[in-house]
Amino acid sequence: MPVGTKGSVKSLHPDEVRELGAEILLGNTYHLHFRPGDELIRDLGGLHRFMGWEQPILTDSGGFQVFSLRDTIARVDDDGVTFRNVYDGHATRFTPELAAQIQANLGSDIAMCLDQVPPAGVPRSRLEEAVRRTTAWAERQRRASRAEGQLRFGITQGGIDPELRRRSTEEIAALDFDGNAIGGLAIGEDRDAMFETTDWSTALLPAGKPRYFMGIGDPEGILEVIEAGVDMFDCVLPTRTARTGSALTREGRLNLRNARFARDERPLDENCSCPACARFTRAYIRHLVNQSELLGLRLLSLHNLRFTCDLARGAREAIETGGFAAYKRDFLERLQ
Ligand SMILES: [Zn+2]
Repeated sequence: MPVGTKGSVKSLHPDEVRELGAEILLGNTYHLHFRPGDELIRDLGGLHRFMGWEQPILTDSGGFQVFSLRDTIARVDDDGVTFRNVYDGHATRFTPELAAQIQANLGSDIAMCLDQVPPAGVPRSRLEEAVRRTTAWAERQRRASRAEGQLRFGITQGGIDPELRRRSTEEIAALDFDGNAIGGLAIGEDRDAMFETTDWSTALLPAGKPRYFMGIGDPEGILEVIEAGVDMFDCVLPTRTARTGSALTREGRLNLRNARFARDERPLDENCSCPACARFTRAYIRHLVNQSELLGLRLLSLHNLRFTCDLARGAREAIETGGFAAYKRDFLERLQ
C-alpha cells in the first residue's frame, strides 16, 4: 500500500498511482483529523471522493503517530492517550471510540484499531501494559459504530518478547476482526529478531483473514514478511526515498546525486517500464534532483512505487506457481 499521508501520495495524481499497479492506499487518521478535519471530509462525501481515489483505502488509527511523536505525549491511561498535536500544539485526546469515529467519518474501506505502541527496548512491564491496553482498546473499538461496509482490523503488540507477543496475538485473534495486523515491529529492534517474531506470530493469526505487517517497505523486508505469511504491508520508504533523490532498483539503491551518473544514459532500472524508465536517463534525473526540480521528485516517486508494486506482484505470481523461494533467492542475490 502506497502511503497517502495527508490525502495524497506526495506529488502523484491518483490515476498515476493506479497505473503503477497500486490497488489500495493508506491514509493517516492523525493528519486528516487535524487538517482538514474528518468531519469536513465526511461532509464533502468521504475520503475517496475528496481525494479522487475510487479504489480501496485503509486508514490507520493514529496510534502509531501519537506514540512515535513521544515528546508530545502528556498522559497515557486505560481510557486513552492525551498529547499535544503537531499542528497547533493543543492538548488532544485519542480514545478507541474517537479512532472509530474519525475513520467512520473518513469512510475508509478498512479501519484500524487504536493500539499502544511502545518504543523498542522498553522494560518488560511497559511492554506488558501496552499489550493489556491494546487488547482492552480493541474490545472497545469493536463495539463502536463504523461506516457502512467498513472492515476493521485488530493490531497485535508485544515487541519481540515471545510470551507477550503470543499473548497479544491470541487475544486479538480471539476478537474475530476482519483482518489482523502485526504492530510494534520495525521500530528499531534487532532485525533478525523482528523477522523471527513475525514468522511464528503470523502462524497464530487465522490463515483465512488478511495479515498485515505495519510499516515495512524495503525489498528484503517485504520478501521476508511475505515468506512468513503476511498479505499486506505499507511504508513511506518508496516515496520518502524518492524525495531524498534515491531510486530503488534490482541492483540496490542508487543515489542520483552521485557524480557517477552525470553522463549515464541508462534508465534507472533496465527492467522497469515506469514512466521515468520508459523515457528518461539517469543523467537527466540526476540533473533534476540536483537542481531541486519538481519533476525529479515525481519521476523518482513513480519509479520507486512501480518497483515496489512489481516486487509484490512478482511475489504473488511466484506463490501461485509454487516458486516463491526461488523468486526471493534470485531477487536477494541480485540486490547484494
Ligand atoms: Zn522505473
